[in-house]
Amino acid sequence: MSYKLVSSQRVINQISKRMSWFARDNVTNDDLIKNLMNERVIKSEVVRRTMSAVDRGLFAPAHPYMDCPQPIGYGATISAPHMHAHATELLKDKLKPGAKALDIGSGTGYLCAVFALMVGKTGKVVGIEHIPQLVNRSIENIKRWNSEYLDNNVIELIVGDGRKGYVDEGPYDAIHVGASISEIPQSLIDQLAIGGRLVIPVGDEYSYQYLTKVDKQQDGSIHKEKVCAVGFVPLTDKDRQTGHTIY
Ligand code: SAH
Repeated sequence: MSYKLVSSQRVINQISKRMSWFARDNVTNDDLIKNLMNERVIKSEVVRRTMSAVDRGLFAPAHPYMDCPQPIGYGATISAPHMHAHATELLKDKLKPGAKALDIGSGTGYLCAVFALMVGKTGKVVGIEHIPQLVNRSIENIKRWNSEYLDNNVIELIVGDGRKGYVDEGPYDAIHVGASISEIPQSLIDQLAIGGRLVIPVGDEYSYQYLTKVDKQQDGSIHKEKVCAVGFVPLTDKDRQTGHTIY
């Protein structure tokens, strides 16, 4: 009995510590990165360095350094910093200089900027987003951060339905999907390069999903692995997302 009380108190302490971290409005990008490192969400030097060099304050409309998703309009959110960090950690080995990446549901353009720093001037990052106003805003965000990556075409931001991927620039070494879907579209697997990796939240939009890692191995076979439970907005139709269609 007393053991149960002690252990439940310990759980409550852990939860409140975690909640205070979520609710904490970090003052700077550096504070945020330090906390993500303390929490072991950022594990590698390359992700630390890259996320430090892309100030989230240029991309998120409010509370940019708080570890929560924030609304960006049109039924969309900028994902929480820990999700951005987690996805970048999962893809970092595929985001080498010269690599090609596709970010589906690119929203604010934040991850396109992070990926572009990693693949460098000889690489390519395509962001695809179905809300034209968000694409325009993401272009403005990236210009404020570093317009060179748009000028030299390292980053290309496209209006389109990400469920089809973007065949014109494929195959990709890394594909990130920032919205959930019940089944992995075959088109995305087809657009993965040999040795490439897709990171995608898979599952029911009204419940939780599993962040899933899909590797196309050297012999062309596909290996899928569930990484952790997550909650993303759905990869869907534009009218449905913006509330113009009633289901
Ligand atoms: N990763 C982005 C946004 C995540 S929210 C960021 O952190 O800034 C998911 C995004 O997916 C939203 O911007 C939404 O508009 C977009 N989206 C949803 N369905 C889509 C579809 N079918 N094709 C392209 N983008 C889509």
